[in-house]
Amino acid sequence: MSEAREAKATCCYCGVGCGVIVQTDGAQVVGVRGDPEHPANFGRLCTKGSTLHLTADPVLQQQARALFPEMRLMRDGRRERASWDAVMDHLVQRFAETISLYGPDSVAFYISGQLLTEDYYVFNKLAKGLIGTNNIDTNSRLCMSSAVAGYKQTLGADAPPACYEDIDHADVIFIAGSNTAYAHPILYRRIEDARKNNPDLKVIVADPRRTDTAREADLFLPILPGTDVALFNGMLHICLWEDLIDVAYIEAHTEGFAELKRTVRDYTPKYVADTCGISEDDLLTAARWFGASKASLSLYCQGLNQSASGTAKNAALINLHLATHQIGKPGAGPFSLTGQPNAMGGREVGGLANLLSAHRDMGNPEHRAEVARLWGVDEVPSKPGKTAVEMFEAIRAGDIKIVWIACTNPAQSLPDQKLVREALKHAELVIVQEAYKTTATVDYADVLLPATTWSEKEGTVTNSERRITRFKPALSKPGEARHDWEIAVEFARRLEIAMENAATIFPYATVEEIWNEHRETTRGRDLDITGLSYAILEEQGPQQWPFPEGATAGRKRLYEDGIFPTASGRAKFVNTVYQPVAEPVDARYPFRLTTGRLRDQWHGMSRSGTVAQLFAHASEPSVALSQTDMERRAIRNGDLVHVTSRRGSQILPAIASDDMRAGQAFIGMHWGEEYVSGRGHEGSGTCGVNALTSPALDPSSKQPELKHAAVKVLKA
Ligand code: SF4
Repeated sequence: MSEAREAKATCCYCGVGCGVIVQTDGAQVVGVRGDPEHPANFGRLCTKGSTLHLTADPVLQQQARALFPEMRLMRDGRRERASWDAVMDHLVQRFAETISLYGPDSVAFYISGQLLTEDYYVFNKLAKGLIGTNNIDTNSRLCMSSAVAGYKQTLGADAPPACYEDIDHADVIFIAGSNTAYAHPILYRRIEDARKNNPDLKVIVADPRRTDTAREADLFLPILPGTDVALFNGMLHICLWEDLIDVAYIEAHTEGFAELKRTVRDYTPKYVADTCGISEDDLLTAARWFGASKASLSLYCQGLNQSASGTAKNAALINLHLATHQIGKPGAGPFSLTGQPNAMGGREVGGLANLLSAHRDMGNPEHRAEVARLWGVDEVPSKPGKTAVEMFEAIRAGDIKIVWIACTNPAQSLPDQKLVREALKHAELVIVQEAYKTTATVDYADVLLPATTWSEKEGTVTNSERRITRFKPALSKPGEARHDWEIAVEFARRLEIAMENAATIFPYATVEEIWNEHRETTRGRDLDITGLSYAILEEQGPQQWPFPEGATAGRKRLYEDGIFPTASGRAKFVNTVYQPVAEPVDARYPFRLTTGRLRDQWHGMSRSGTVAQLFAHASEPSVALSQTDMERRAIRNGDLVHVTSRRGSQILPAIASDDMRAGQAFIGMHWGEEYVSGRGHEGSGTCGVNALTSPALDPSSKQPELKHAAVKVLKA
């Protein structure tokens, strides 16, 4: 690649999945612009997307990129550069020994929603098909697993039923637990356009903070953290009382309503208003707007998912849509926005510890047999693997000896960092497969495997509206970096030889061969993409699933026929009951801490933190408090404060914000320890906000409650 060229890709930041055109001079990325033909963004890009080329700056690349394999044989030694051959030999030997001594569940893989679908597919097959462990989970557990569980429990499959175009058709947009203006900016631009085109469109926002999204809403419900189920049940109560439910739809297409109806009887406007900390009038308005509108669309994200009752929150909102028939028609539906660029692709290949390929269930013997047949193995294990937090607990306990971490940074992003870091120290072997050598997790790596990243990779991703985009590399692989799928396949083939397997189940020479195998696993499933080839994706552009053999287009919207992928064909109401947050405030920890994204940063900043202009919006971490709390504690703007939970402490400047109610605190999720100490806050001994957050899990989705912790705030 020595000549200037352009290649189509998607932005690697969020689940909107905007199309980008990457411009290179043959050796490096020199520019990026929005792809006018991509249906996710029609040429628009937000601040992060439009500065993507700056993350590929050659000097930064040299400083930050992992370019060569490294390994250390002694835990207290330094990693040294090594050949791929030597590293692979070492890994195969260690895996074979460990599995033979302690069994397949003594090893684990922790992967990422940043991987491409094909990467995900191979890792999943490696763990479940070859090694025989379901100990493979992903950072999507921290992001989407409550949405997965909510969709499956109610609609029968993990499939967002709506599409971006529904924003243009909606009369009411209900944004719950999402600062869409910051987290999904290009989708928010579409909401702004829809408001201009339809002055009657009502936007309701439910959020503990008055975010920029909330400020622009027609109705803002500043609910107390964690009270979403009470809110949704209360809205359903009012819809029932005011005859805004669709009895004919409920009778024809759903089951389980009678039990839920008995439950929501108790969610009177007074009880719900008191529980949520909002006015009865606002609650009544929200319910009436939602229930009476021709088309109500809900958009929701981590405010619902990152909760110890995340599945119930998702299900309660879907209940509301089903009861009012706000689903399966233009402009309506419960639409979970994906956080990461390819969390959806991971879900499609079953890349979580409790899922199997193509939305199959691990607990279903027929599904396990189907996957075993498709993969050409005797069986896939039935015992669910360890989910993200459980995995690190098992590593710390010594039950998991080897962990292979790909394209994610758990030493910053998982809750309860003390636990995570103890686990990484305790593991017998930590393998980190990464594009960047600067992440906190790399510090714990015994083996560092350099991987390619955005603009260098080839494969597919799926965005929030089930739309699959194929892209090709714009640049060659740097240094000795390899593609994520290539690394997994190389290791798998060597392990097969060590296991004396007669033939390989990883026969791929190209990434397209992996796609074709994945595609075949979807045949007859709700996400059937047997009609979708790389050639079609190239010729006709990004397509939504399902796209079965013989189809000429994907399906925009699901369940328009009122038939759901459950055994009975009916959607199921889940009897959702409000549960308070896992860690309520008390006299010692009186502040409700919530966490979230800032406008111009992404996750742990391994990429966005390399672009100077992305610090213009927020240059350093801080804790936002209400003016009332600042005055009561004699804290002035910019004063350093200790923010302390039961698990750890952080020193941050305090900032007065009228977004906050008294008794609440907010910290952006992006900064880790390096940055805090780099700004002269030495001695804080922290690991970013996740020193404070709670590992309490939702019982169904096992998603941790990253969105809420009880803390105290004391002047430093
Ligand atoms: Fe990238 Fe998301 Fe911004 Fe689109 S909205 S450009 S996908 S960060």
